[in-house]
Amino acid sequence: MDQRKSEDKDFFKDVVDNLYDGVYFVDRDRVITYWNKGAERIAGYSADKTVGRSCRDKLLNHVTANGMELCTKNCPLTAVMKDGNPREAEVFLHHKEGHRVPVIVRGTPLRDTQGNIVGAIETFSNNSNLIKARREVRKSRQAALTDPLTGIGNRRYVAGRLGAAIAEFGVVKNPTGLVFFDIDNFRTFNNTYGHNTGDKVLCMVTSTLRNAVRTSDTIGRWGGEEFIAILYDVQDTEKSLHAVGEKIRSLIERSRLDLDDQSLSVTVSVGATFLQAGDTPESFLERADKLMYASKQAGRNRVSIG
Ligand code: GH3
Ligand code: MG
Ligand code: MG
Repeated sequence: MDQRKSEDKDFFKDVVDNLYDGVYFVDRDRVITYWNKGAERIAGYSADKTVGRSCRDKLLNHVTANGMELCTKNCPLTAVMKDGNPREAEVFLHHKEGHRVPVIVRGTPLRDTQGNIVGAIETFSNNSNLIKARREVRKSRQAALTDPLTGIGNRRYVAGRLGAAIAEFGVVKNPTGLVFFDIDNFRTFNNTYGHNTGDKVLCMVTSTLRNAVRTSDTIGRWGGEEFIAILYDVQDTEKSLHAVGEKIRSLIERSRLDLDDQSLSVTVSVGATFLQAGDTPESFLERADKLMYASKQAGRNRVSIG
């Protein structure tokens, strides 16, 4: 019977020893009494360097993402031993080689046969994959809002910003302007110089637009050769809005794509309008689009305000 018990014990020890997760035990004084191979793999320290030492020593030195030290005052295992409730946290532990490793730690009380808490068990698993997965989500969200050619916000992004600007306008009535423009005769340009050159022009126009407005303004590519700028906190006069539209128009007209044997430029037709009470993103945009169209009708390469 005793032989059997001891075999069982060896079996379980072997299983825990070789778990993929890190596992260690501490006694009530937080002295480490057991340290498995998973812990060695994740933290770099072997059992002979950890067993017998207090986990309070500058050993694992858990910190939160914002740098709060957990091992001195906020030890989760101390809390677990105090109230018997298991706990889980995402922390960064210190690796033997010096760097920080993201881990999910779980603390559970360790009880004797009478139910008295005699220590705690901490398991920790490497959290890098989780963090990587979250980064992927963030990246794909960002990709869904970015125009791949020019790198600026796409129609979805701009639509979201328009909605946000309108919501903000409902609270603080800061004058907000919308500039909408479309490249003139771009189909002919593509037909003459080729689609690749057309793409380069779209990037050139984007860079000029970016430099023509404040960094706090929003710019985006609404569609093929249509762009938008949302101007926050502009001076509430048609003259000042016209000045911004005119700045964009003239800087684009004066931008130049230098090829081996020639320099190419394009012009744009611009519509610009102020956000009004009661506007929806659609009505705001439609007004700017109509003004842009008025610029086309009037002969292109000009700014219409309304
Ligand atoms: P208008 O002055 O009236 O705006 O004339 P337009 O030729 O610019 O207008 P239209 O809407 O007929 O043509 C838009 C053209 O924009 C069609 C297409 O060749 C070009 N275009 C749209 N998206 C892209 C793109 O991603 N790359 C390139 N190179 N061209 C594009
Ligand atoms: Mg167009
Ligand atoms: Mg066009």
